[in-house]
Amino acid sequence: MLEVRGLTLGYGAVPALEGVDLRVEAGEFVSLVGPSGSGKSTLLRAVAGLISPWEGEVRRSFPLEALGFLFQEDALLPWRTARENVALGLRIRGVPKRKALEEAEAWLKRLGLGGLEDRFPHQLSGGQRKRVALAQVLALRPRLLLMDEPFSSLDAILRTQITRDLLAQVEGEGIAVLLVTHDLEEAIALADRVYLLSKGPRARIAQAYTVPFPR
Ligand code: ADP
Ligand code: ADP
Repeated sequence: MLEVRGLTLGYGAVPALEGVDLRVEAGEFVSLVGPSGSGKSTLLRAVAGLISPWEGEVRRSFPLEALGFLFQEDALLPWRTARENVALGLRIRGVPKRKALEEAEAWLKRLGLGGLEDRFPHQLSGGQRKRVALAQVLALRPRLLLMDEPFSSLDAILRTQITRDLLAQVEGEGIAVLLVTHDLEEAIALADRVYLLSKGPRARIAQAYTVPFPR
């Protein structure tokens, strides 16, 4: 569903990625690991169509609207409740207000936030806010979810819990995931496939592993 071939691009005249190949099949969980500055975020931006290839191509078998994003900083509006924040994306896509709020509530419940729907972001813990952000993106039923170190601000225990819940949801919904992380252990524990980016300035895929055991 996503195929990156021979991708070379950078900023100004400086290349950041060179000849990168990567693919994600439908429903697959793929991790992208590499040291800081190796071009992980750049590769995600290229997949999202935010920057154009100098060479090579990014092929998607689905429209850009079917991409979901989850980044380190969440995009919750402080003056909206958890329920309203989750409903907002649905409303932008034309779902009527009442239905959007109902669906938002159901997603919040699925992510363990039942009873907290009317709280504003500042009334939630860091982990709870991440769950709201996750509900927000999952409610839009993306085909491919792009995540850039989404839970790195959380402690290890919380991160594991949320990631487990995330896995259960994406598996249930058949959503493919491309996760950027600098944590090799996390990458291997979660993924069907792991790509390692070499250290820049012109990062390549150093290795691609298919994780041979069920997660
Ligand atoms: P990672 O996500 O692996 O930390 P990045 O994709 O952010 O790596 O960065 C890859 C390289 O591109 C780095 O050398 C970084 O300095 C450079 N870079 C990233 N974003 C920009 C930008 N907006 N303008 C110029 N250079 C950038
Ligand atoms: P409504 O209930 O009419 O939809 P909003 O939710 O847009 O109102 O706004 C609620 C509150 O948030 C208002 O006090 C408004 O001034 C404030 N607000 C709305 N948009 C922004 C923004 N982009 N930045 C800061 N404050 C905003």
